[in-house]
Amino acid sequence: MAVTKMRKTPKGKLRAVSTRTPKYVYSFANGKADGRSAMRPLLGGKGCELAEMTNLGVPVPPGFTITTEAWAAYNGAGKKHPPGFWKQIESGLARLEAAAGSRLGDPDRPLLVSVRSGARVSMPGMMDTVLNLGLNDETVGGLARRTRNERFAWDCYRRFLTIFGDVVLGIDRHGFDALLDRVKEKAGAKTDADVPADALKELVADSKRLVQERTGRPFPQDPTEQLWLAINAVFDSWWAKKAVDYRRIHRLADDWGTAVTVMAMVFGNLGTTSGTGVCFSRDPATGEKRFFGEFLVNAQGEDVVAGVRTPEHLDDLKRRMPKAYRQLVAIKDKLERHYRDMQDIEFTVQDGRLYILQTRSGKRTGAAAVRIAVEMVEEKLIDRPTALCRVEPASLSQLLVKTVDPNARYSAIAQGLSATAAAAVGRVVFNPEKAVETALRGERVILVRAETSPEDVAGMHVAEGILTSRGGLTSHAAVVARGWGKCCVVGAGDVVVDEENGLFRAGKSVVREGQVITLNGATGQVVVGPLPLVDPKLSEEFKQLLDWARDVATTKVRANADTPEDARKAREFEADGIGLVRTEHMFFKDERIPIVREMIMAEDVEARKKAVDRLLPFQREDFIGIFKAMTPHPVTIRLLDPPLHEFLPKYKDVIEEYTRLDALRINPARHQELGGIKARLEALLEANPMLGHRGCRLGITFPEIYEMQVRAIMEAACTVARQGVAVEPEIMIPLTGTTAEMKLTGEMTRRVAEAVTAEMGVRVPYMVGTMIEVPRAALIADQIARHAEFFSFGTNDLTQMTFGYSRDDIGKFLPFYLDKKLLPADPFAVLDREGVGELIRIGIERGRKTHRDLKVGICGEHGGEPSSVEFCHQVGMTYVSCSPYMVPIAWLAAAQAEITEPRRRPEPARGGKRHA
Ligand code: PEP
Ligand code: MG
Repeated sequence: MAVTKMRKTPKGKLRAVSTRTPKYVYSFANGKADGRSAMRPLLGGKGCELAEMTNLGVPVPPGFTITTEAWAAYNGAGKKHPPGFWKQIESGLARLEAAAGSRLGDPDRPLLVSVRSGARVSMPGMMDTVLNLGLNDETVGGLARRTRNERFAWDCYRRFLTIFGDVVLGIDRHGFDALLDRVKEKAGAKTDADVPADALKELVADSKRLVQERTGRPFPQDPTEQLWLAINAVFDSWWAKKAVDYRRIHRLADDWGTAVTVMAMVFGNLGTTSGTGVCFSRDPATGEKRFFGEFLVNAQGEDVVAGVRTPEHLDDLKRRMPKAYRQLVAIKDKLERHYRDMQDIEFTVQDGRLYILQTRSGKRTGAAAVRIAVEMVEEKLIDRPTALCRVEPASLSQLLVKTVDPNARYSAIAQGLSATAAAAVGRVVFNPEKAVETALRGERVILVRAETSPEDVAGMHVAEGILTSRGGLTSHAAVVARGWGKCCVVGAGDVVVDEENGLFRAGKSVVREGQVITLNGATGQVVVGPLPLVDPKLSEEFKQLLDWARDVATTKVRANADTPEDARKAREFEADGIGLVRTEHMFFKDERIPIVREMIMAEDVEARKKAVDRLLPFQREDFIGIFKAMTPHPVTIRLLDPPLHEFLPKYKDVIEEYTRLDALRINPARHQELGGIKARLEALLEANPMLGHRGCRLGITFPEIYEMQVRAIMEAACTVARQGVAVEPEIMIPLTGTTAEMKLTGEMTRRVAEAVTAEMGVRVPYMVGTMIEVPRAALIADQIARHAEFFSFGTNDLTQMTFGYSRDDIGKFLPFYLDKKLLPADPFAVLDREGVGELIRIGIERGRKTHRDLKVGICGEHGGEPSSVEFCHQVGMTYVSCSPYMVPIAWLAAAQAEITEPRRRPEPARGGKRHA
C-alpha cells in the first residue's frame, strides 16, 4: 500500500518519496487466506491458524486479523492508529461482508462480528474478547427477522451491551448482572434462557441507561464506531494487570503484543440444531488416542466457559447432529495430521452447519505429553528429535512424584517456594523427634519448621513433607529434600511458627499441631485439610523417551547422591555417574552427628583425631555401598564442606539450659559440660558462616579430617576393586579460591591416596579436582587447572558470592524483586547467564587453556533446571549433575539442547592425566 511522505535528501532538500505501509490486515474468507501458520508472531496463534485452516478447506467463518505490528505501531504512537490502518480495516471488512453475505450496520442483513485477542503464545482468558458486535436498536430487528427468533436477537443484544460495557467502556459487569437478576425475578424466570423477549427488551433499555449514567454518553449505535472502540480495547487488554502478571509468571516478553481477529459471528444458540463445544484429538490428561471433548446444545461459547450449564459428552453431539459429528471427526483427524500434534479445537454448530472457530496445540499433562510424543513417532507422524522437543523437561517432574489431583478445588493459606514438585498430606508437627514418634505410630506427618538443620534430618526423613518459613531454594531443607524427591516448601514468609504453643499462623489462619495440611509441591501452596493426591507411574513411553534422550545428548547427566540408596535411585533413572557426594550429608545420621560435633568442638589435634578416626569406618562403608551401586560409572566425592553452624547445637538452646541449671544449682556435671560447649560455641561463632571457616579452609587448618576422608575413599575403592568391581573415584576439593589452596590440598590427597593403594596393593584409577564456586577460582582457572584434573561448578555458592545474596535469606526480598522485575527469575533456581554464566565461561576457557581436555561439570542445584542445562551444554560442559529425581529432566533438557545446538564434537568423557 503506497503512502507518500516527505523525506530530506542527503543535501538537505525535501523530496516526496513513496513508502510502503506495512500490511496490517490479513483476510481469511471464501476458502482463501493471506496468512498462514508460520506467521504466528505477526498474526498471533488464533489468527495464523484460522488462516491456515481456511487454506486447508476447513469451514471457518470469514474474517480478518490485525497484526501485532499494528499493535506495536498503535502502542508506540501513544495509542494512535498508524497511517493507512483504518483503510486496510475497511477493505478487510468489505471482503468479510462479501463472504458473509451481510453488512455491518445493515438493518435488513446485519453482520455481527466477534473481536478477539490473540498473542503468539496462548494466554488463556488473560485478554479481552467482544462478541455480537454490530447490534444496535435497528439491526436487532434485522437479526430477529433473519433468524425468525425475536428472543434470540434481543438476548444477543443484551449480551453485547454487557460485554461491550465491561470490556470497552470499563463498566463493571456486576451492574449489568444485577439488572439481569432483577428482570429474571420480575419475569419469574429460573434461568437466563427462561427470560422472554419482552423482558429482554426491557433489560436492553435498562442496560443502555446504565451506560449513559456511567459514561455520560449514550451507548454507541454506530457499528463502525463500535468496531473502532473494540479493536482499541482488545489492543489495550495486553496491558491488563492479569495479562501482565501472566507474562511475568510465564516469562513472556511484554513487547510481543497481541493481534486482533475480527470474525463473522456464528450462533450455537439458535435452537436445538445448534450448539457449541471444545474437543481434543487425544486425551489431554493421559495422552490416550481417543476423541475427547464437551458439547452444549443451544449455547454460545461463553456459556461453556462460564460453567452455567454442565456440558455433555461429545456423544450428545453424535446423537443429536450425526452429520456435524462425522464432519468434526474428519476435521480433527485432518488437523492432527496436518499439524502433527494433538489439537484443541473450538467449534460451533449453527442450524446443523459446523464451523471451526479455533485450533491450537492442546495443553497436556506431563504424562500425556510423553505418551503422545512417543506414540506419534510409532505412528510415523513425527521423528524422534521432534518427539524429544515436544515434551517440556520440567513437566516430567509430575511423573516422578505424587502430585495433587488436578481436579481438586481448594484455596491456600500461604505460599512458599517449591523445592520439589512432590505433594504431601499429613498432620502438622513442629519438631523432628515428634515427627519420628508420630510416624512410628503409622501416621503421616508434615514437619513445619522456621528452618531445618542437620539435627532435623531423622524427622525430615520420616515426614511426608517439609514446610519452612525461612530459606531459599538452596537452603538446607530444600537441598536435602530434593535429594530424596520429598515434598518440600521453603521460605513461606507468611507462616509464623510458634513451636512453644504448638501452632503456626498464616495470615488469619491458625493451624495447630495434629491438624492435617496439604503441601502442593508443584505450586508451593499450603492448604488446610487433606487434598487428594495422585501416584506417579513410570510408563513404557517414559522409559522409551528417556532412552532416546540419552542417545542424543552429548552433555551427560550425573546425580548428586550421598548414600547407596540415592545411588541406586540415580541408576534407575540412568544417571551416568555421581557428580557430587556431599560427604557431610553422610554424617546426618543420628549416631554420627555427636561424633561430628565432637570433631568440630575438639580443642586440640589429639581430640579431633580421635573423633575423626571414629568416623572413618562409617565413611568407608558408605563409599563401598556407593561404588558398588554406581559401578562402572565414575563417582565424584567432595571432601567435607559443612557450614559448621549447621552441625552445632543451637547457641540459644545451650544458653537456656545452662542458665536454668545455673539458677537451680542442679546437675553440676551437665552444667560443667554445657559451660564447655558454650565457650567452644562462642569461639566458633562466625558473623558470616557461609563465608567463614568451611570448605578447603577447614581441610587446610584441620588436615586430619581430609586425610581421614581420602583414606576412607581409597580404602573403599581398593576393597571393591579387589572384589572385581570397576571403580573410578574422583576426589573433589570444595571452595577453592587460590592456587596455593589447590596445590596444598591436591598434594595431600595424592600423597594419602598413593599411600593407601601401596598399603593395599591395588591400583585404582582416581582423579583429583576441585569445585569452582568462589568467583576468584573461575578467574584464575588456568592456574588452578595445573593442580586439578577436573572442575565442577558449584553454582549455589558461585551464585551466592557473585550476587552477594545469602542462599538462606534471599526469600526476604526475592518476591519483591521478581514482582518489580528487578530480577528475571530466582538466580538460585535458574542460572544467571549474564553474570554467573560469564564466570563459568571464563572458568572453562581458562581451565582448558591449561588442560585441553579438562573434564567440566556442574553440581549446583541448577544442574537439573532445563534452561540452565541448555546453558551448560552451550558452554561445553562434559556433564551436569543433579538430584536423582531430576536426572530424567536433565537428560531431556540436554537432548533438546543438542538438537537445537549440536556440538561439533562430543566433549571428552575423561579428564587430563589420571593416576593409576
Ligand atoms: C554448590 O555450592 O553449588 C554446591 C554444590 O555445594 P553446596 O550446595 O553443598 O554448598
Ligand atoms: Mg558449595
